[in-house]
Amino acid sequence: MNSLYFSEEHNILREQVRRFVDEEIKPHGDKWEADGMVPREVLRKMGELGFLGIRYAEQYGGSEMDTLATVILAEELGRSTYSGCPITALVHTDMASPHLERFGTDAQKDKYLPGIIKGEIITAIAVTEPDTGSDVAGIKTRAHKDGDDYIINGRKMFITNGVHADIVFVAAKTNLDVKGSHGISMFIVERGTPGFEVGQKLEKMGWRCSDTAELVFDDCRVPASNMLGGENRGFYSIVANFQNERLVIGAMSVGESQAAIDLTLEYVRDRKAFGGVLWDKQAIRQRLSMLSAEVAAARQLVYHTAWLDADGEECVKEVSMVKALCGELVNKVMYECLQFHGGAGYLLESPIERMYRDARVQAIGGGATEVMLEEVAKRI
Ligand SMILES: Cc1cc2nc3c(=O)[nH]c(=O)nc-3n(C[C@H](O)[C@H](O)[C@H](O)COP(=O)(O)OP(=O)(O)OC[C@H]3O[C@@H](n4cnc5c(N)ncnc54)[C@H](O)[C@@H]3O)c2cc1C
Repeated sequence: MNSLYFSEEHNILREQVRRFVDEEIKPHGDKWEADGMVPREVLRKMGELGFLGIRYAEQYGGSEMDTLATVILAEELGRSTYSGCPITALVHTDMASPHLERFGTDAQKDKYLPGIIKGEIITAIAVTEPDTGSDVAGIKTRAHKDGDDYIINGRKMFITNGVHADIVFVAAKTNLDVKGSHGISMFIVERGTPGFEVGQKLEKMGWRCSDTAELVFDDCRVPASNMLGGENRGFYSIVANFQNERLVIGAMSVGESQAAIDLTLEYVRDRKAFGGVLWDKQAIRQRLSMLSAEVAAARQLVYHTAWLDADGEECVKEVSMVKALCGELVNKVMYECLQFHGGAGYLLESPIERMYRDARVQAIGGGATEVMLEEVAKRI
């Protein structure tokens, strides 16, 4: 792609991810959707290709690229049309493991990061609870000190990779005497730790091949050395990583939108109606042209925000705009593209039907549109 934002190295990465999507995701997506999970082997392959350590230090096996590279990975995976697969990988690379990479001790990073980058250790992030999502400060999960350990009690909801993750980064209150956001700490909890169980695998409208679970912590004892980033510093860690997470969801939404427009163009150019094809109808051509323009504009905002972030600029306003704009736009695109497929688009076998369902959560997860717009409003 010829763009002032991207180097030759970025362009090579884009080609590699695009090839991976065509060869390793698209042919298998239907089976994974039916199975309700993406096989571990796929993540290991992504690890071998270097997709899981794009921003991480070479000493752990990473390639030390920048935010623009992350955005390329998310956008191209988003084009796969099976968004449950990208989210499985992107939660691991950009929503869960950054907590360790940014705030972990050397010992914690030495232990886990090489496996995370190879795709041998899969990660999840557990913040949301049955009673609170957008309002992170309202979490009720508790962790109290007991000798050299902490004991965690509580429930976590909607946790991506919750069933299959090897380690989960769990947010819990460690100080009840201070304002909610100041008393939260993060903990590394390994699968198989007594007292930690998957409560239930959750069935969803979309992202069917992404595993989502409720997690239960019942007197779950972890060594104090599993605390991540210092006592009562968890909220800082969560908020710091929101930026990356939201940018990634924006980039993924742009990829999904473009894929929907591409396959709709193909459909309307072929579908016969009224003595020609649907593309002959000016109304359809113009609506697809406007959607293309809107997606192109959103894409440039994503790239520009990634560039700001890579340059070390403060960009909370721009990231919040990206998340709000792209989360809504992808739903608009899916609605219109399904419309142009007519009844065929309403059938379960149709990719646009799946994409329509997959897109819905992009305006909710990782910061609902309304919450994002409040962040923008504070800054304009
Ligand atoms: C498929 C899926 C995967 C997920 N994966 C993870 C994960 O891996 N880890 C994790 O911790 N969480 C995860 N989540 C949780 C997700 O981040 C939350 O669902 C999201 O933050 C919204 O929280 P909530 O569902 O509790 O909605 P609530 O906070 O109850 O909000 C409900 C709705 O109210 C509106 N609203 C909320 N606040 C405001 C406000 N201030 N002003 C105006 N309107 C508002 C919004 O429309 C919002 O959608 C996942 C969710 C889903 C659906």
